[in-house]
Amino acid sequence: MFVDYTPEQKDRQSVIRDYIDRNINPHADEWDANEEIPRAVFSALGSEGILTPGLATQFGGSGMDNVTLGILMEEMGKASVSVVSDLTVHGMCVEAIQRFASDPLRNHYLPRMAKGEALGAFALTEPDIGSDARNVKTQATPVEGGYVLKGRKKWISFARMADLFLVIAQDEGQPSAFLIPRDTPGLSIKPIRGMLGFRSAMIGELHLDGVRVSADHQIGPRGAGFSHVAANSLDFGRYCVAWACVGLTQACVDSSLHYAQNRHQFDRPLRDHQLILEMLANMITHLKAARALAWRCAYLRDQRDPASITETTTAKYFSSIVASKAASDAVQIHGANGCGPDYPVQRYFRDARIAEIIEGSNQMQQIMIAKNGYIENRKALKRMRTPAAQ
Ligand SMILES: Cc1cc2nc3c(=O)[nH]c(=O)nc-3n(C[C@H](O)[C@H](O)[C@H](O)COP(=O)(O)OP(=O)(O)OC[C@H]3O[C@@H](n4cnc5c(N)ncnc54)[C@H](O)[C@@H]3O)c2cc1C
Repeated sequence: MFVDYTPEQKDRQSVIRDYIDRNINPHADEWDANEEIPRAVFSALGSEGILTPGLATQFGGSGMDNVTLGILMEEMGKASVSVVSDLTVHGMCVEAIQRFASDPLRNHYLPRMAKGEALGAFALTEPDIGSDARNVKTQATPVEGGYVLKGRKKWISFARMADLFLVIAQDEGQPSAFLIPRDTPGLSIKPIRGMLGFRSAMIGELHLDGVRVSADHQIGPRGAGFSHVAANSLDFGRYCVAWACVGLTQACVDSSLHYAQNRHQFDRPLRDHQLILEMLANMITHLKAARALAWRCAYLRDQRDPASITETTTAKYFSSIVASKAASDAVQIHGANGCGPDYPVQRYFRDARIAEIIEGSNQMQQIMIAKNGYIENRKALKRMRTPAAQ
């Protein structure tokens, strides 16, 4: 099925890697410390054609296949998952417009989003509603020619910079999706600083206080804002996070191999101590397994196989756990240096923990995976007999 990347994908990988090594990697720690990424970074990604990797070329996107998209997210995840996070939510907004908005809205927003002139964010979570997302409390009240929205959205990545928000709100009890430009009267944004990880993802809180939008800015079928629009965007988001965690794990492996080779204790490099080798071996094995799962997702997504949805959930669940464990072991291998500002592993550790919570917490993924297990295995289950009690 998949043995290796194609020559074109390998070429893309080396171009992407080279770009990230020059333009993202050297700044990732500084952006993390400042809790901000300059807007010019996203404009440059737009010029480079990697700001909207999944967008069709007719709208100015790159129309990347899912393997190449995975390669991009892995390489970016190795450098900065905060950049991945902003790319992801921008992509989630793009996904929703591409799939569910009217032609005039697509033609209006998508080419600007491809160039980085309009940056998007995804606003589902609220102060009192997280995992139980279909029960958001933000209200969209129908009025002549459109809607008036009232409510609050919290923990919104990219909120401090985004120009356009995909907001999920209740339209008379039916979850629906709305596009809200940043400059709409009644919308105000409060920055959230001091996060554990994803510090430069520019997270914020949205206050919607009588925000009026025209009827055409309600996208997707009324009542399908969660089940279709948000679900489709979240599927894309999980796919990006799965690959980003592969990249984050690779960064932990690279740092740990290098450190264990150069740091000496008891007159030997750390790599000569078996307990260190055990951590390295587990990290490397888990990394390969996580990449294989993500790669299988890429294949299924390119085939438009409906099984890709659960496989994406599984890949995000697994690779975020793998990244967390690898980052924790990377800190352990680096000792005090792993806790200080001179090495990036403390950032990896903080970021990896977040990956287990975003795009649906890992408990939500576990519930979906186990429930799907009953569906996938129903034939085998029917054939099985419960042994008679002795
Ligand atoms: C850095 C960061 C960026 C984010 N970016 C965005 C964004 O761009 N847009 C957006 O809309 N949201 C965003 N979020 C919010 C994120 O999606 C939520 O944090 C997540 O869905 C979990 O919701 P919650 O934090 O309210 O936890 P809760 O839902 O309150 O859950 C708390 C804990 O209980 C567990 N739990 C809940 N229900 C169950 C259950 N039925 N069974 C077992 N365990 C359960 C959860 O897994 C979790 O461990 C972001 C969050 C972070 C930290």
